[in-house]
Amino acid sequence: MIKVEHISKQFKKVKAVDDVSLEVKKGEIVCLIGPSGSGKSTVLRCIHGLEVPETGHVYLNGEVLDPKKSNYQELRNKMGFVFQHFNLFPHMTVLENLTLSLTKVRHMEEEKANEIACNYLTRVGLLDKKDEYPNKLSGGQKQRVAIARSLCTSPEIMLFDEPTSALDPEMVIEVLEVMQQLAKEGMTMIVVTHEMGFAKTVADRVIFLENGKIVEENDAKAFYENPKTERAQDFLKKVM
Ligand code: ATP
Ligand code: MG
Repeated sequence: MIKVEHISKQFKKVKAVDDVSLEVKKGEIVCLIGPSGSGKSTVLRCIHGLEVPETGHVYLNGEVLDPKKSNYQELRNKMGFVFQHFNLFPHMTVLENLTLSLTKVRHMEEEKANEIACNYLTRVGLLDKKDEYPNKLSGGQKQRVAIARSLCTSPEIMLFDEPTSALDPEMVIEVLEVMQQLAKEGMTMIVVTHEMGFAKTVADRVIFLENGKIVEENDAKAFYENPKTERAQDFLKKVM
């Protein structure tokens, strides 16, 4: 479903992503892990087109993501992105946050958009908050709203960039449960995370990055039980 071929991205003197290639199949859950500054977010942002790599290509279902091509936005719309800091619109209610892109971008009638939004709010357990403003919600609730908002546009793949690392510990679990449920339902997911428990139990595959490069890649069980590289062994010693 996703194919990344030899992408690189440089910020001034920093090579944030250095010749990364990877593939994610339909229904697969892949976790990107690695130390701070290793390029995890930049890889994810390049996949979503939030950053454009200087070299290499990203393909979705065999079609290249190219800002110069007419199908670029259409391809990007097939991907959902969940940020560490939720990025909800503070001046809109929960329901309005969810329906915005349906009514404005997809020109859906309000009634239909509301129905879809309420369906996803129910799935993340927050239908009773639909008329609240984001500042009335806990961090965990905000992130569940952000996930529901992303799901409203029926993405084929969900990209998560440290969705739980801005949350108090007791709220982490409610967000991970929503993600785990999505995984069970067969959603394709790429997750940047420091939650090793989640990666170990939910991921099919783990990709370990350092200095913008893939150092090790393996199925999750094998990676955690028997990391091959010294880099990964050291990293796991520190975080597990
Ligand atoms: P963290 O775990 O801290 O989120 P990360 O693995 O997601 O780290 P990136 O955010 O991808 O790492 O950053 C990789 C490198 O690129 C870092 O050295 C970072 O400082 C640099 N970088 C990332 N984004 C930018 C930017 N917009 N401008 C300049 N440098 C950047
Ligand atoms: Mg990051």
